[in-house]
Amino acid sequence: MKRLTRADCARLDAGDPVASLRSRFEPPADGWLYFDANSVGAMPVTAPARMERALRHGWSELRRRGYQQDGWIESPARLGDKLAPVIGAGANSTVVCDSTSVNIFKLIVGAARLRPDRNVVISDAGNFPTDLYAAESALDLLGGKHLRLLESVDDLGSALDADTAVVFLSHVDFRTGRRHDMAAINRLTRAAGAVSCWDLSHSAGAVKVDLEASGTDLAVGCGYKYLCGGPGAPAFLYVSERYRQQMPSTIAGWQGHGDRMAFSTSYAPAAGVRRHLVGTPSVLGMVALECALDVWQQADLGPLFEKGDRIRSLLIDLIDQECDPAAARIVSPRESESRGGHVAIAVADAPGTSKRLEESRVVCTSRKPDIVRFGISPLYARYTDMWDLVERLNKALIG
Ligand SMILES: *Cc1c(COP(=O)(O)O)cnc(C)c1O
Repeated sequence: MKRLTRADCARLDAGDPVASLRSRFEPPADGWLYFDANSVGAMPVTAPARMERALRHGWSELRRRGYQQDGWIESPARLGDKLAPVIGAGANSTVVCDSTSVNIFKLIVGAARLRPDRNVVISDAGNFPTDLYAAESALDLLGGKHLRLLESVDDLGSALDADTAVVFLSHVDFRTGRRHDMAAINRLTRAAGAVSCWDLSHSAGAVKVDLEASGTDLAVGCGYKYLCGGPGAPAFLYVSERYRQQMPSTIAGWQGHGDRMAFSTSYAPAAGVRRHLVGTPSVLGMVALECALDVWQQADLGPLFEKGDRIRSLLIDLIDQECDPAAARIVSPRESESRGGHVAIAVADAPGTSKRLEESRVVCTSRKPDIVRFGISPLYARYTDMWDLVERLNKALIG
């Protein structure tokens, strides 16, 4: 293969059909490179003024009236509809609320109740810890049901049986960056009579996700990672049409009531996905997240996610070309369709490498025991950033 140069990367930037989206986000401080879209994505340029307005005009002047006049009370459904195209979901299928962990708890209880005669929820040992904790605590409450952890998602086919109620997986492995084949796993799950539930925290906004075409039953995900909703942004949940009128609310709260302003003593769930709302939305967090969703609404999603796949492949090619393979081993899959939003490498001293990278103005994350991750957002990453990263990585590997 022809040796890649920085000029090749610059040519790719010049031909990038979605390059203008970068200007919708605050640029990094001079000389810094941020590869932490898997932790906290960049800030939309509109966020400071809209937050200020929410405080001055909303909180200070409108106060209670803001719930109606500024659309605060409708924000979970409105933001859900703005997010839906990004994850291949239809209208009225998604709400923005609570945290990912809480939404997992809600949906695992709901899903288990859809299969009352079955006792097992299958997940994998590599799933994100909070997913396992929240699912386990949900099952403890239900009694007689338990979590079964696979060593590898590849073992799913032989693990599924007539006692499997739910298959609950993360779409992308938070360590390796491996992306699972959602459609194939959903087919297996459906054939076994079980319900699928996916955590999209590391794929929503990073790669193409198509919940409807893949036949997903339930999903949750994070607002503050690749979606760029701000630190601690509210999370989301999705319920497919199949179960939307059928799955009960787990935590009956007034925001999920069919007529919340009736203040009735008895609970009657709202039609559809709204019944999974619990309490008053976290308005200030919603304002920040909506700034990002307004950018997503205008993004040309096909070319955007193609760019994401391509730019991460370029990073892998550059690491192959420039770095000593004994010092940095590529952990993430090389085929873009099997890869999520980050590229993971294994190194001898992960915390030290990421510390030295930070000293050279590169922000990334390390995970035990030996992984360094570069989370790459297609909204604002440039091909030349990959070149500059690899140059600094080589110095950081030498120590
Ligand atoms: C980031 C992440 C979470 C975060 O959960 P919170 O409740 O928002 O803290 C959960 N699951 C996965 C897979 C994640 O990557």
